[in-house]
Amino acid sequence: MNRIFLLLIFSLSWLFGKLYIELPQKRIDYFYIKGHSKGSKIVIVGGIHGNETGGFTTAEYLKNLKIDKGEILVIPRANPIGIMANVRGYNGDMNKKFDNKNPKDKDYRFVVEIERLILKFKPKLLLSLHDGYGFVIRNKNAWGQAIIIDENRYGDFNLRKIAKFVKKESNKHLRYKIDIKNTHTFTKKGAYNKNGLTGWSLKNYILAFALEASKNISLKERIKTHLEMINNFLRYYKISSNINELKRDIKIKYPKVKVKLLINNKYVEVSKKITLVLKPATKIKVLNLPGGVYLKPRGIDLNWRSFYFKNVIFDVMYGNKRLFTFQIKEKN
Ligand SMILES: [Zn+2]
Repeated sequence: MNRIFLLLIFSLSWLFGKLYIELPQKRIDYFYIKGHSKGSKIVIVGGIHGNETGGFTTAEYLKNLKIDKGEILVIPRANPIGIMANVRGYNGDMNKKFDNKNPKDKDYRFVVEIERLILKFKPKLLLSLHDGYGFVIRNKNAWGQAIIIDENRYGDFNLRKIAKFVKKESNKHLRYKIDIKNTHTFTKKGAYNKNGLTGWSLKNYILAFALEASKNISLKERIKTHLEMINNFLRYYKISSNINELKRDIKIKYPKVKVKLLINNKYVEVSKKITLVLKPATKIKVLNLPGGVYLKPRGIDLNWRSFYFKNVIFDVMYGNKRLFTFQIKEKN
């Protein structure tokens, strides 16, 4: 009993001596693109897998997209923690968590939010953007440069027919040709996509495809591949857009970021490599960061929103790209 009490006193004093930081809540960003007249509604999701840069960079790039009709909901970064960590999934594979949700899972609130946004929007079509290894056209075990269908047909949906149109039209313009890959999600035992976003969509009467660029080509070529495929899905729904223009001149921009900190009720802006030395027990609050910008504390669990520390280096990330770093440490 006494020992536990002493231990408690010891750990409390140790905690209160240290610096304390509170990070902004990581959120699911999204935006809408609207045409002038009524038409089909489409959802485009990027970044379910955090290290598939082509997918979420393309989704963000769609901020420049203009369409004549219909409406598009873009969720550019479905897996913010996976993206900032630059891993497929920081808390396991998010694409196995639809229809298989666990409230205790660290990704639970992200998956719930994505499903909520999609169901509220009531789209006809969903496209999930990925980057996979290799080239399916040369090796059917690869995942890169492909339109992924869960089945040839599902209910009234003829997935292969639409995929064939997109493949044929896209390959007229693509340097790295695409193919169609069927994962037989609902008929094959142990199929990978069992609880994937596209399978979940189909079950919710939303036609869905995963689009894979290849990890073996440059980021620009990956973006071109995604844009070309998206363009042909839009054309299938008789939507005209400025994608050909966007494809011609792809510029990947990284924003100038200022991280705003509230340190003992005083505002401090950090925009370059710097070391802040603070008195013990100082409280630091990080104010909201722009979309796609994350603060990644090195050596700390990225699911945590707040923690005590003595000395931490923070990577300021834009997606999975590090913009700069800064350090906060306790004054001796
Ligand atoms: Zn993927």
